[in-house]
Formats: sequence, C-alpha cells, structure tokens
Amino acid sequence: MQERKRRPYEVTVIDERTWSIEDNGVRALLAEGSERALLVDTGFGGEESLKAVTDRLTERPVIVVNTHADPDHIGRNEEFGTVLMHPAEYASYHARKPGLPVAPIWEGDVIDLGGRAFEVIHIPGHTPGSVALLERAERILLGGDSVSCVPIFMFGEGRSLSAHRESMRRLLSMQDSFDVIWAAHGPMEVEKTRSYGSSKRRTGSSRGSLKGRNRKFPFRRSCFPGMERRFFTAGKRGEIPRC
Ligand SMILES: [Zn+2]
Repeated sequence: MQERKRRPYEVTVIDERTWSIEDNGVRALLAEGSERALLVDTGFGGEESLKAVTDRLTERPVIVVNTHADPDHIGRNEEFGTVLMHPAEYASYHARKPGLPVAPIWEGDVIDLGGRAFEVIHIPGHTPGSVALLERAERILLGGDSVSCVPIFMFGEGRSLSAHRESMRRLLSMQDSFDVIWAAHGPMEVEKTRSYGSSKRRTGSSRGSLKGRNRKFPFRRSCFPGMERRFFTAGKRGEIPRC
C-alpha cells in the first residue's frame, strides 16, 4: 500500500496567546498563560519535533493534557516533561507508550496557567477517560474527539455508546457555561446547538432500532468535509470554520 505523504504541522494563530497546531487531520491546541502554557494533545507524531513548534510560540513551560490516549493525540508526548491525563486512559496509554511518566487529572481539576484556567470535565464514552476542557472565562469548551462534526470512532475495547450519550447529556446541561466548542477533528468550531452529534442516531443505535455500519478505516476523505479545504490560515476567532 502506498503510504500517504505526511504534511508538516500547520499553525493557526487564534489570538495572541492561543494557537491551533494541525497535524495531518488532528488538531492540538496551545494556550498560554502568564506562568505556563497548556498543550492539549500532541498529534500523531512524525519525525518533526512538536516541541520545536511550541518553543517558537511560547517561552513558558509547557504542560500537556491529553484529552484521551488514542494514538493521534499522544504522538509527541515524549517531548514534554509534564503529561496529564485521566487515569482511566492509563492502560491504553501504557500499552502505546510504555515507560512514559504521566500524572492524573480528575473531574473538576482546574489547570491554572496564570491569568487563565481550564477546568477538567470527565466525559467517558469515546474512551473511558476522555476529558473536555472548559475555559470558563472565555466560554470555550475543548471537546477532544467526543464533540465533533465528523464521525466519532467508537469501535474497540473500552468505548461505550451509552456512556458517550450520558456524557453528551451532561455537556448539554452545562451549555450556559460556553459559547463555542472546539473539536480535534474536522471543522474546528462546533456550534453548541448541534453539539452533540445526532442524538436520534445515538438513541436509535443503542435501542437497536438503527443499525450501525462498519466503515472502513481510515475513513474516506468525504467523511471529513471540512478537511477538504485548507482552512488553517492565520485568522481571527471569527474566521474559524464552523459546521
Ligand atoms: Zn482523534
């Protein structure tokens, strides 16, 4: 099989202290506070250094939070000293990255960057230890893979549609706390009103009235409509593509 050519990291300036870093279809986010910076996920990881990218963007020490331990989110963890994730991800993380140190985050933890803070919301389903991060002051929710305009991978051990549904219900109950959701795949900004994917589809498939389809992996490119375009040019928040 012919290997797909890796594209270099693409950095988008969201504002003067926030950047998205696109790595071949998955998005990491770097947020800088006055004391430290937070890197949410580390992409697939290729030969290129992700730390070289974050070093160009911030002088603050960088801590990593992984929204979960799927391979497209932990690829470059080894380049960073402090890596945090929910302990329900440890088993799959250690299977993929044996020997790498990791520290726990829990529901309700606040990651204080100095003048800027992100709260941890545990949203199991896509994986057992998936988390979302809420920047309450800016009214932004980082949903990882769990809230997205594109298909959410739900096959394999530890994934639970019913847990995912409960987690999405929980986010719905919190939606007064945020205006937008930023996703890790597909168009970056997910409108909160359509936030949580098709609840009809979720309910139907869990009741058995709808049948799921086994899609070939990797998904066809047409499954990711937003990614056909090169939307990651430097821009303002208002220019972030939505779905
Ligand atoms: Zn992913």
